[in-house]
Amino acid sequence: MTKKARHKRGLLVVISGPSGVGKSTVVRRLLKKNPDLSLSVSMTTRQPRPGEMSGEHYHFVERDEFDRLVKNGDLLEWAKVHGSYYGTPRSYVEKELARGGVVILEVDVQGAASIKRSVEGAALKAAVVFVFLIPPSVDILAFRLKKRKTEDQEVMNYRLRAAIAELQVMEKYDYIVVNDKVESAADKIRAIINVEKERTLLN
Ligand code: ADP
Ligand code: 5GP
Repeated sequence: MTKKARHKRGLLVVISGPSGVGKSTVVRRLLKKNPDLSLSVSMTTRQPRPGEMSGEHYHFVERDEFDRLVKNGDLLEWAKVHGSYYGTPRSYVEKELARGGVVILEVDVQGAASIKRSVEGAALKAAVVFVFLIPPSVDILAFRLKKRKTEDQEVMNYRLRAAIAELQVMEKYDYIVVNDKVESAADKIRAIINVEKERTLLN
């Protein structure tokens, strides 16, 4: 296989980390600055937050529709997160990778583990890099979750406890990025993508 043909495999960039660490904020900034990257828009059964648009932030679906997608094998991975279901549409990701694109997935730690299993079991044949976003400190994470004001106190406390537990899995990832400033976290992820794109040419 020529190097050029190998490069056509594209690159899947899995960005994960605890709830409230700033994944969607950093990913939005990354995409705004880098129009060559494409975002996989997830399916979810959760209710839209104010300002969220179906097809842009998520594809908002009912539970029976989500179950149908799972049953048909239409999701590359899926997980129940904080009481709602989330999943990555398979066809979009496969199409983008086939044309050699760089696809960003923003998923919880279960989703990232599931993608890793698919790659290791060769069910997913793609170049994949796993990036874990961490907060500068747990106090800052608590502050950011509070600031977002999308959950009530009880849900927020639960999410914070879950987030602290989720930080334990970070050594399983290829890269750990501290989300200090949104701009610099996005720049660090761009740098990782540039290096990994070169690596896919060599492997
Ligand atoms: P996640 O997608 O990981 O759950 P969000 O992107 O919703 O997290 O971010 C949680 C809150 O933290 C939001 O209010 C967001 O504006 C804020 N935030 C994200 N990144 C930063 C940062 N680097 N500095 C300050 N606030 C941030
Ligand atoms: P939120 O409800 O705050 O938008 O997202 C809750 C969690 O679900 C976040 O950690 C987010 O990264 C994760 N998530 C979003 N889309 C997906 C997906 O397609 N699959 C998985 N496994 N998790 C997702």
